Amino acid sequence: MQIITLGNELLRQKAEKIEKIDSEIKEICIKMLEILVRDKGIGVAGPQIGFMKRIFVVHVQDDEPRVFINPSILETSLKNVKFEEGCLSIPGIYTNVMRPETIKVQAWNEKGRAFTIEASGILARVILHEYDHLEGVLFIDHLPENKKQKMIEKYEKSIKDEKK
Ligand SMILES: [Zn+2]
Repeated sequence: MQIITLGNELLRQKAEKIEKIDSEIKEICIKMLEILVRDKGIGVAGPQIGFMKRIFVVHVQDDEPRVFINPSILETSLKNVKFEEGCLSIPGIYTNVMRPETIKVQAWNEKGRAFTIEASGILARVILHEYDHLEGVLFIDHLPENKKQKMIEKYEKSIKDEKK
């Protein structure tokens, strides 16, 4: 299963609510978790595989894999922190991004069970990053415009160099 990369319009579209957590959704979860292993990622969202539904999976070190279906960010701390981010859809580009330090999220898992978690550190960071994907937002959108343009140019250049 291929990851959609920067420039593909699907990454800019808002994902739709999942009406039913059925066997198709469970299969998608398994595939997405396999992508994380294959591509050494810590999170992937539906739109990144062209599945335009509100779902993402995360698997950070020393934690279990987690599935988020129809997530809502209930609370975010006033305090923002800097963290280096990357994205499977913009390979090779890493930069610091400011986001809330701690969050409270509500979602459903692949079994259709609702849950709420409070997260901080890397887990909070990846959840916010993946949630953005459901809204058609990318991590580079959080950068000042000139820095964002530089990152896009850097990425485009790396793609061209790869093709040479
Ligand atoms: Zn991403």
